[in-house]
Amino acid sequence: MEYQYVIIGSGPTGLGAAYRLKELGITNFIILEREAYVGGLATSFVDEQGFLWDIGGHVQFSHYTYFDNLMIKALGNEGWLSHQRESWVWMRNRFVPYPFQNNIKYLPKEDMWKCLEGLIKLYKNPINGKPKNFREWIMATFGEGLADVFMIPYNFKVWAYPAEQMNAVWVGERVAVIDLQRVTENILFDKDDFSWGPNNTFQFPKHGGTGAIWKAVGDLVGLENVMLNADVQHVDPTTKKITMADGRTVGYQHLLSTMPLDQFTKKVDGFPAELIQKSQGLKHSSTNIIGVGLKGKPNPELAPKCWMYFPESNSPYYRITVFSNYSPYNVPDINQYWSLMSETSESSAKPVNRETLVADTVRALLEDGLIESEDQIVSKFLYSTDYGYPTPSVERDDILKAVLPALEPMDMYSRGRFGAWKYEVSNQDHSLMQGVEWANRVVLGVPELTLNFPDAANAMWGKK
Ligand SMILES: Cc1cc2nc3c(=O)[nH]c(=O)nc-3n(C[C@H](O)[C@H](O)[C@H](O)COP(=O)(O)OP(=O)(O)OC[C@H]3O[C@@H](n4cnc5c(N)ncnc54)[C@H](O)[C@@H]3O)c2cc1C
Repeated sequence: MEYQYVIIGSGPTGLGAAYRLKELGITNFIILEREAYVGGLATSFVDEQGFLWDIGGHVQFSHYTYFDNLMIKALGNEGWLSHQRESWVWMRNRFVPYPFQNNIKYLPKEDMWKCLEGLIKLYKNPINGKPKNFREWIMATFGEGLADVFMIPYNFKVWAYPAEQMNAVWVGERVAVIDLQRVTENILFDKDDFSWGPNNTFQFPKHGGTGAIWKAVGDLVGLENVMLNADVQHVDPTTKKITMADGRTVGYQHLLSTMPLDQFTKKVDGFPAELIQKSQGLKHSSTNIIGVGLKGKPNPELAPKCWMYFPESNSPYYRITVFSNYSPYNVPDINQYWSLMSETSESSAKPVNRETLVADTVRALLEDGLIESEDQIVSKFLYSTDYGYPTPSVERDDILKAVLPALEPMDMYSRGRFGAWKYEVSNQDHSLMQGVEWANRVVLGVPELTLNFPDAANAMWGKK
């Protein structure tokens, strides 16, 4: 079969591209998807006991009106539940509200002073100049104390790489920076300073988890336009032919790949060896999801919480989501059950023993007081994805600058969370829009915003 447009991958990027092509009146396209389902990392699973799990707690942070409109079209106005974004840090045997730096009054005195002293030193001797890496950015922004107590250990747990191996370009809006006056005032006047409130809400699908959104978008695209179980193995840019693992072939005029860029370059015939080699330098971490289905009710402290961060080394996980709080339909019967979902990162710099991970997670849940007894557990779910987070490493931007444009003269484009490897624009909304903007570019000649100007795309928050 020959197609004008071929899209590899049916995650939010591939579905966004296909949806937009259809909207522009183009029907001569196909999505090739390796799995037997659409949605990519934004998929949900139901385990044997009837508990529903996402691949990590997916929260929508939309920056785009187009995305918002599509979400309504996908699930309807009634298909969503709205929640306050209530997030906490668990450390020193207590919960500290997020943003951590504004609530250090919750810490033991020695830690509180360490954080404050670091900030005061920074005010006396500011560190100027462009930070060469994420560690330098943390030191210059938060000071030594907050770095030691929270920022460095927590970020290692999330990213699975030391902060000095990461760049500081991605930070933008994602990390709330610090105001010494406000921090001091909060301590002296015993003020809480939470990031949540009436305007700080997020939406979650009432039924079917995050995966329901992308199944519905798949239906809008039309499943006749998706080839499932189509594992792309080989692309010949001269004959413009794609070969799949089972020997099937399709022809294309324009190709969009959303598979990881380091894998894609190896599949393209004749792609320059030095660029294939360069793309292997992109770093990523793996993510292990452990879902724990529980009988009874969460303890009153957990009952209103959405998610919690864990910087300490007793637990394998960096984040736990009280997933039954996102929708009562995430568990078989909300009157009898509730659920916790943990995320543990992994990389060559931070190996994880997957054999013992479930047991290690349960031990830490007990230790951290999130569950009272193993007898509460009625279900355990483990899902590991090798490509979880595209690491914004110090060498990333040089690699991308060399590799991405080299594909375009061959009518090939690589976009999306691992297609473009830009963590700062790799959430569901960004990914969908990378696909939409790609379609606008190849069909209408409109330049892409999200890929090329991530800061501008993220600045659209609240200005929709
Ligand atoms: C732990 C975790 C937590 C997250 N939390 C949030 C959140 O809170 N909010 C948010 O908005 N986003 C979140 N995300 C990000 C969200 O999942 C991504 O934005 C989105 O899935 C990226 O879409 P994509 O289409 O670019 O890539 P993917 O979803 O990775 O899709 C790529 C697709 O390509 C297919 N593919 C790969 N290789 C081949 C091949 N050889 N042949 C054919 N098909 C192939 C894959 O099977 C997959 O379906 C989270 C992600 C993770 C991992």
